[in-house]
Amino acid sequence: MLYPLFFQPVYKEIIWGGQNLKTILNKEVPFEKTAESWEVCCHKNGMSIVDNGEYKGKTLKEVIDIHKTDLLGTKTLKYDRFPILIKYIDANDRLSVQVHPNDEYALKNEGDFGKTEVWYIVDAKENAKLIFGVKEGTTKDDFKTALKNKNLEECLNYVNVKKGDVIFIPSGTVHAILDGIVIAEIQQNSDTTYRVYDWNRVDKNGNPRELHVEKALDVIDFNMSGKVHMPNHEKANGYSFANITKCQYFNVDKIVVNEIYEDSTNGESFFIFMCIEGSGTLIYDNKEYKITTGKTFMIPAKENTFEIKGQVKLLKTYL
Ligand SMILES: [Zn+2]
Repeated sequence: MLYPLFFQPVYKEIIWGGQNLKTILNKEVPFEKTAESWEVCCHKNGMSIVDNGEYKGKTLKEVIDIHKTDLLGTKTLKYDRFPILIKYIDANDRLSVQVHPNDEYALKNEGDFGKTEVWYIVDAKENAKLIFGVKEGTTKDDFKTALKNKNLEECLNYVNVKKGDVIFIPSGTVHAILDGIVIAEIQQNSDTTYRVYDWNRVDKNGNPRELHVEKALDVIDFNMSGKVHMPNHEKANGYSFANITKCQYFNVDKIVVNEIYEDSTNGESFFIFMCIEGSGTLIYDNKEYKITTGKTFMIPAKENTFEIKGQVKLLKTYL
């Protein structure tokens, strides 16, 4: 019998990480520089393990193989692998300036999906900024010259961000999360990143990280100069909600439960909920599941109705 699946996070240690996933999202971070918590993943670089119920200890891949469409839904049939990857990111220090390829380029050159991603700002220091595309009017030649002259920053589009902002990053968009930001990230199931510039940093062994300038120049969209948006919420009985992303790869809604929220699956897609603030109770098949800040869970696609009670902010991802 399928039930809501909770997973053990897969933590990643990277030079720009810190302790903010612990302080803000109550995660039990294992490293001094914990950079990412992969919440739901089914990729060669990270695999979710179920943390509750009958399937406790099994991988997400194993549960998918048992239940297939009942778990994933009919909309996943067109994919040959699990289509998305969900994580929290602690940019305690700034990330490299980078770009992700689209499906066509990534499948041809890396055997991986391309990566379109969306960021929800869970927390940000005052005056936090990030890099979102190139400055308007920048050409490929301008960009190459700036790289050579080590003044790339002049070509980059810096935007201010605050808690609650949403940034949609289509593949091909140059971007960097800068310091003092905690993000919930929903993306295509891919781990392909081309680093353009890493601020002349070295890792703990004194080595700079690899750059991939040629491939980056192949895939960068020089017309992309992004703008941040904050979605408008609609009120409903017991909760409010806003659609924050609708794209060919995934949809994301933000749901703020004040009292009670009722939802139902119809067999087309699983739902993944990230609890970004507050706490509550999920009621599914007459069973109760405690949900607290930082927890992520997956509702099977097969037809059912469920409720969430409490005072809790959620990001809901579905196909
Ligand atoms: Zn990225």
